[in-house]
Amino acid sequence: MKAIVIGAGIIGTLTAYYLAKKGINVTVFERNDKCGAEASDANASQLSFTYLNPIASKQNFNKFVKNFCQDNDRNHSSIDLKDPEFYKFAIRYLNNMRFKNYSFSRERLIRTSLKSRQKFEELIAEENIEFDYKQNGKMQLFYDKESFMQAKFFAKKLIKEHDIPMQGFPKSKAIEIEPALNKFQDNFLGTIFSPIDGVGDCRKFTEELSNILKTKFDNVRFVHENVINFIKDGNKVKAIQTRGNQYEADKFIITGGAYSNEILKKISLKAPIYPCRGYTIITDNNIGLKTNITDSKRKIVYAPIGDKLKISGLMDFKGLNAEIDPDRLNLLKSLAKSGFKDLNLENIEVKSGLRPIVADSIPIVGKYELDNLYLNTGHGMLGWTLSFGTAFNLAEIIS
Ligand SMILES: Cc1cc2nc3c(=O)[nH]c(=O)nc-3n(C[C@H](O)[C@H](O)[C@H](O)COP(=O)(O)OP(=O)(O)OC[C@H]3O[C@@H](n4cnc5c(N)ncnc54)[C@H](O)[C@@H]3O)c2cc1C
Repeated sequence: MKAIVIGAGIIGTLTAYYLAKKGINVTVFERNDKCGAEASDANASQLSFTYLNPIASKQNFNKFVKNFCQDNDRNHSSIDLKDPEFYKFAIRYLNNMRFKNYSFSRERLIRTSLKSRQKFEELIAEENIEFDYKQNGKMQLFYDKESFMQAKFFAKKLIKEHDIPMQGFPKSKAIEIEPALNKFQDNFLGTIFSPIDGVGDCRKFTEELSNILKTKFDNVRFVHENVINFIKDGNKVKAIQTRGNQYEADKFIITGGAYSNEILKKISLKAPIYPCRGYTIITDNNIGLKTNITDSKRKIVYAPIGDKLKISGLMDFKGLNAEIDPDRLNLLKSLAKSGFKDLNLENIEVKSGLRPIVADSIPIVGKYELDNLYLNTGHGMLGWTLSFGTAFNLAEIIS
């Protein structure tokens, strides 16, 4: 069997890996010279296997409305209100906020994430990949009793039903585990600590895995060309076209991240994905942090990786535009510094990327509309974390 994978971010590269392991001949198309150069490069590096909150929740919505009415420019989310696609996404979001739908999405997220963790552990034991991985744990900081109680309730469920060693701690215990929190400026109430979460460089991992595929597997090849069109034959895709070339296969898999709809457009199809821009600041000044911190008030994360610190956040709903908006970057900087005032953010590297988000937070994995067309996309805020599970699952479906 011959398969074509379109897009070599973390999702496409892992999909190629699991397909190749099943003996399928795979050709991966990537428009950049390197693999993992887009959202898979801009992320915060966190492998948050236990951070499983669908974005469409009442809590998120209430916070959003409160902030939006107060000060749109300084809001964690910034929206292009003229984009009709955003309203379609918003309607799906409101529907998924209903408790029944939220709970259903949560259960599916848990299953996908646990599978991903299992496949992640198997893969790193099997392949020798250097990507600054550390199982350094994750702490979510909570400020009000109600959300802390709710988080503790969900943590208990995860412990009971899935044997995950998470725990709720008051602030004093959180500081014992992560002494750098002693310098945190805000008075949080407590934390949910998950020791099994970790951090690892997603771009490095993607590049190294693509090198393994090129050297160790004789049934995989990478073509660095932009896919610009499809040739159909009845209800099937026959071939894809790049500038000047045409390639045939039996199965076609779209892993174009936030650009998946641009690719689908060429065959008059569409998936319910919306691009959501986020930013990551990378600094040498890591202020002694060892643990990943998610600050639920500022909605930003601090992730110590190697000898650096990544600070990541913001949600810009502004269409397919990954450019850095200086005002939004300044907002992220000021949010980060309002947490740790000793942070020196003068010499920094900044990345921005588009998360491919879907309203129910469940990636779209499987056959799509045509007999031999498949999607593995829509991983939103958790693409690095969920990638191992969804790529493995898709390879199972295809084989
Ligand atoms: C700021 C930020 C922070 C994040 N933090 C985390 C985190 O801490 N943990 C986590 O789990 N997730 C995180 N994420 C989410 C995660 O990064 C994404 O979900 C994931 O990278 C999506 O991977 P992908 O392979 O689908 O997309 P991408 O990495 O964008 O890859 C898609 C690829 O398709 C290629 N492509 C598109 N069109 C074509 C075409 N026509 N022809 C050929 N190639 C094409 C592109 O060049 C690109 O390389 C974060 C995202 C952002 C933006």
